[in-house]
Amino acid sequence: MGRLVILGGGESGVGTAILGKQKGFEVFVSDKGEIQEKYKEVLEHFEIEWESGEHTEAKILNADLVMKSPGIPDKVPLVKELVEKGVPVISEIEFASKYTDATLIGITGSNGKTTTTMLTYHLLKNGGLDVGMAGNIGDSYAKMVAEKDFDHYVLEISSFQLDGIVDFKPHIAIITNITPDHLDRYEYKFENYIASKCRIGMNQDANDYLIYDADDDVIREALKKHPIQSKLVPFSVKQKLEEGAWLEDKTIKIKLEHKTLEMSEDILALEGQHNVKNTMAASMAAMLVKVRKEAIRDSIQSFQGVPHRLEKVLKINHVEYINDSKATNVNATYYALDGIKKPIVWIVGGVDKGNDYAELMPMVREKVKAIVCLGVDNSKLIDAFGNVIDLMVETYSMEEAVKVAYKIAERGDAVLLSPACASFDLFKNYEDRGNQFKNAVKNL
Ligand code: ADP
Repeated sequence: MGRLVILGGGESGVGTAILGKQKGFEVFVSDKGEIQEKYKEVLEHFEIEWESGEHTEAKILNADLVMKSPGIPDKVPLVKELVEKGVPVISEIEFASKYTDATLIGITGSNGKTTTTMLTYHLLKNGGLDVGMAGNIGDSYAKMVAEKDFDHYVLEISSFQLDGIVDFKPHIAIITNITPDHLDRYEYKFENYIASKCRIGMNQDANDYLIYDADDDVIREALKKHPIQSKLVPFSVKQKLEEGAWLEDKTIKIKLEHKTLEMSEDILALEGQHNVKNTMAASMAAMLVKVRKEAIRDSIQSFQGVPHRLEKVLKINHVEYINDSKATNVNATYYALDGIKKPIVWIVGGVDKGNDYAELMPMVREKVKAIVCLGVDNSKLIDAFGNVIDLMVETYSMEEAVKVAYKIAERGDAVLLSPACASFDLFKNYEDRGNQFKNAVKNL
């Protein structure tokens, strides 16, 4: 089978190692950082050779095939050298897909991947299908394929994973939306990032489907430019469509492959227009794999959402506290502000990834009564909103931010943590930021 070298000893790397070993490869795992203890134990158990804290080039450059963790950029010299030598450098989804005949549903986009993936999984599972959920979420896809192959997989797929595909071909692909993100990995060219997202459909044929947001100009243009052979299935909250999903009289209407489904918007457990879109995409995927209408309706009502995404924490003195810590860019925050129908005390800030706040301005004027800045450097927020919002307070810890918000908020308001920024200035990651918010609220 040859020598399989795996760069990165995290969830996807270790999973790929297990599958590779099972399929007869000579496997070597190399991680320049520290491999976590739990993964070292797994590698030992499967008698897989590994190194941690360094990359020994002599043991890597002799690979026949390399699986690179999505966290490692292509511009790293070692990766460049492998590519120059003609060694295929692929991602976990490419590798694992070779060893399963399952029906694949691949979900990508700038925002909404995790929510749509979890919702789709929920619909299929409740619909009685044998289904696994993997990709950027939870357990390794490769490990699942090695240990218990399912009939269906719902895969959350980042652009970095798509950069490492050759033959990967999902039967159903979903692109939730495309807004500028991760441009540092794409030579600061938005078109490169768009092209990467479109790779999800590049191997599809006329029997496959690509579900996409027809309200998103970037996707519509991209689909004209990037040839995709599969059947294009649009969804929209703005216009009626011939086929696909749309909104009419507060009802989601779906027409797809001679089947129809109607669901009142009121039955959705999740709030916000973006979640109507996520629901449309997930429901159509479920219809395409023949989940019954009743099962879809029931599951849509019971889906409780995902932590840190517009997550309702508590109501205190008739003020609702909402944790949207996962909103690490402006587009995600746009949908949070849009979805909340109350006056908002908005906690925002962190590491700005080149944000343009202009698109938020109309909504901020209309809905936001006060801004609590939470970041090491809040100057850009103050420049953007200082003239628009009378009350802006700078804070430097979550506890302080929540206390200030508590003082400002009045009966009927919402306190929203939706930072529009990355979390690394004051927090370990967005989960840490969201958990600190929840704890601070509970301690009020
Ligand atoms: P991802 O996995 O792509 O980061 P998540 O489902 O984790 O997406 O959501 C990230 C953020 O984007 C959250 O703040 C969430 O409320 C918001 N969001 C979810 N779905 C959408 C969507 N379809 N469009 C825009 N924003 C969304």
